[in-house]
Amino acid sequence: MPCSSLAEKKAASANTLAARLARLGLRTDADFILHLPLRYEDETRITALADARPGVAAQFEVDVVDSEIAYRPRRQLLARVRDGSGALILRFLNFYPSQQKALQPGAHLRIFGELHEGYLGPEIIHPRFHVVAAGETLPECLTPVYPTTAGLGQGTLRRLIEKALARADLGDTLPPELRERLGLPEFAAAIHRLHTPPPEMTQAELEARGHPAWRRVQFDELLAQQLSLRRAYTARRARGAPPLKPTAKLTGALLKSLPFRLTAAQQHAWQEIAADLAQPHPMQRLLQGDVGSGKTVVAALAMLQAVEAGHQAALMAPTEILAEQHYRKLAAWLEPLGIEVAWLTGSLKKREKEAAIEKVGAGETAIIVGTHALIEDKVELARLGLAIVDEQHRFGVRQRLALKEKGLYAHQLAMSATPIPRTLAMSYYADLDVSVLDELPPGRSPVTTKLVSESRRDQVVARVHDACRAGGQAYWVCPLIEENGVSAEANASEANVKRSGRSQNAVLQLKTAEETYARLAADLPDLKIGLVHGRLKPAEKAAVMSAFVANEIHLLVATTVIEVGVDVPNASLMVIEHAERFGLAQLHQLRGRVGRGTAQSACILLYAQPLGELARARLKVIFGSTDGFEIAREDLRLRGPGEFIGSRQSGLPLLRYADLEDAALVEQARAAAEDMLHRAPEAAAAHLQRWLGGREELLKA
Ligand code: ADP
Ligand code: MG
Repeated sequence: MPCSSLAEKKAASANTLAARLARLGLRTDADFILHLPLRYEDETRITALADARPGVAAQFEVDVVDSEIAYRPRRQLLARVRDGSGALILRFLNFYPSQQKALQPGAHLRIFGELHEGYLGPEIIHPRFHVVAAGETLPECLTPVYPTTAGLGQGTLRRLIEKALARADLGDTLPPELRERLGLPEFAAAIHRLHTPPPEMTQAELEARGHPAWRRVQFDELLAQQLSLRRAYTARRARGAPPLKPTAKLTGALLKSLPFRLTAAQQHAWQEIAADLAQPHPMQRLLQGDVGSGKTVVAALAMLQAVEAGHQAALMAPTEILAEQHYRKLAAWLEPLGIEVAWLTGSLKKREKEAAIEKVGAGETAIIVGTHALIEDKVELARLGLAIVDEQHRFGVRQRLALKEKGLYAHQLAMSATPIPRTLAMSYYADLDVSVLDELPPGRSPVTTKLVSESRRDQVVARVHDACRAGGQAYWVCPLIEENGVSAEANASEANVKRSGRSQNAVLQLKTAEETYARLAADLPDLKIGLVHGRLKPAEKAAVMSAFVANEIHLLVATTVIEVGVDVPNASLMVIEHAERFGLAQLHQLRGRVGRGTAQSACILLYAQPLGELARARLKVIFGSTDGFEIAREDLRLRGPGEFIGSRQSGLPLLRYADLEDAALVEQARAAAEDMLHRAPEAAAAHLQRWLGGREELLKA
């Protein structure tokens, strides 16, 4: 029936519209009103053709002289138009018959576009135009141009946003005295101004994000983020956890047995953690310390405090190599104290694994170290008192949570060697307390970094040879595969290779690693050379690594699997091939593998010409600094916060309007969030509702 098919059609088009809107995250009225323009077009004024400037978009009012379809060489529609002051050609490479029809000689048009000098004189390609209706006036506001998606026109978006603006509650969620203290405009005024700006505002003024209306929006966005993080923090804190009271029996014994004394920073962090663990609510703390700052021993002390209190402690690391290093180190420290350490990874034989799971489940083993095998369903950690996640940013939110949920009320410690600049930390870690190891253990000699052109590879190989003959050891890091000319940094991590299975990239990466190995083995026949890469079986990987630790291998050719945690103090030379393809954080982590002993260490960054601008900037930073925080700051500057943190990893939606580098505004939002949660909880709730709607769940992770 025609009637039903019409209804169906309508439903279908509504569906596709809804789908397109959903792609932009537009569901509620609040979503629409917070969908703000990218830029503006000024259709409030008519410019005379004689005054038009090339490259500047403007509106003109013209009459069509004539129009024709030409073939030069492609089929196209050309219209000659003029106003009292000059003439112009409109050129359409694609067009509808209706457009052709509208461009009849004598038609009176308003056109909008950028003029430039064409073959036949001044022209505009694909101007927006319409036939002027009788009595039509000029719009009173600048025309907003919104971010959109394929198949969703500006007109439709504008109409929907206008409707939402007319209907929605634009009431202020900021308490008036806060708003005044911060000198911010009212929400309704700011929003109207941005959607429908009066023509006396210049576009430059509007598009510069420093305008008070933008400040208000940016502040609100940051406030929503802070509120949500603080609320999640408070909610978790309200839960109970077993107070892990220190007896110092085990921790004291460990401290006594160590061949070194804790640094002041370690001491301080350890005290903060010990105090948290003794509380009856869960610790939510991040231990942040640059590569080599000695986080493991702090983790070991924390685990012992849990054991002292009769609980289990688990440590999860993102890669097999790293987990194994932790396991060895912890076993070496703790077994002499009579504490057994269990080891659990995916690569264990089925029987070994089941035995380990059973022992752990029965509560026989108090300390468990492993990879994400720890969060498998079968693993039960009934007495888990402390869950530690190393290199936590390398796990997805879900995995991080899963470990904690093995013991419902466990205390939580995350560790990270990726230093996060302060403003970013305030934002992304607002739901965590942070302890920082800001000094390295004494006796480390700083790593010298050298930039060497690929053309001098032979000299570098000779240097590796000499260093190894002299009793040292070296790493040679294989080049990353570039995908479509873009550095495959993000794709090269072990976890990703696993996820994508035998992807083309992984295969190529393996091939490169094997070729690099073969070439070095041919160049250096008198050295023992090993190869590790992400596709080795874990047992094979472990065998190569332990041979390297035992100095049975001089030169270890490796992919980025060695990036985190590997600790071989005798290795004092590292060569990174095609260093220009690596990210800054990655270079810093890799370089951190050397300089762990007393020997003077060096990191040689081999690069190939020509260097792109970004690659050059990165190499300059890594050459100029060994300070992880400074490098992270530069990384943030070069990449922007979204990339830097990886939104999917952090579980946070990216900020759309605010800039995390705007430290002052982030600080203000943070303070305001604290204040509002205490003094104006309803306003805080309304604010969250407006900005995050139902999406807040994401943040609770
Ligand atoms: P990271 O913070 O990168 O995980 P590690 O915990 O692996 O660092 O420590 C790096 C190295 O420094 C290890 O060999 C560790 O045993 C050693 N170490 C840790 N603390 C100290 C200290 N206070 N004095 C001397 N060496 C230390
Ligand atoms: Mg470590």
